[in-house]
Amino acid sequence: MEVKMSSMPVSEAIANAIVGWDGCDWTHEEEDEEGERVLDEDGDPRYCDGESETCAYCRKAAEAAHEAERLGHEATTAVEAGDMALALTLVEAAHGLEMDYADAPAWDPALKLVTKASEMVDPVIVEVMPEHLRASHEAAGNSGVYPHNGSERSILGREEAGDMVGDDPEWVSIVRAVRPDDWSEYPLHGA
Ligand SMILES: [Zn+2]
Repeated sequence: MEVKMSSMPVSEAIANAIVGWDGCDWTHEEEDEEGERVLDEDGDPRYCDGESETCAYCRKAAEAAHEAERLGHEATTAVEAGDMALALTLVEAAHGLEMDYADAPAWDPALKLVTKASEMVDPVIVEVMPEHLRASHEAAGNSGVYPHNGSERSILGREEAGDMVGDDPEWVSIVRAVRPDDWSEYPLHGA
């Protein structure tokens, strides 16, 4: 069985989203204070590179980014409390703000991970020995102890984790139920 690991815990994905978006990131028609297009000397719309001091569109984007950052910090607090449903609501709101102004949303990975986490039923920590280390542990007659033995831990719903253990009981085990601070430490399995 191939085991795919993500290296990013849920809280890290949110932190990356917070620093990854600070305003509009596409070229757009510059707006004045009234929200009207700013025209150049030929009467054509003036385009803004997203860094104009006077562009009202950019200012609204910066305000939205600031609000998304605030929502992100609240979402991180919710994750640390183990409240993934609340975290999802907050991350969805931050992602929604960004969608109006950004071309390649920085919040996409966080939304994906928090959605997956919030849908997990009875999450547990699962420990897996990577296949490329199994032969050497077999030769040694001793599989050692996490994390020194190279095994990897991730978060998964108990039923799926149980299926994995059933398929591969020698190298896969359920460590325990997830505790709130685990969401900041371990990646989601297969995410
Ligand atoms: Zn602008």
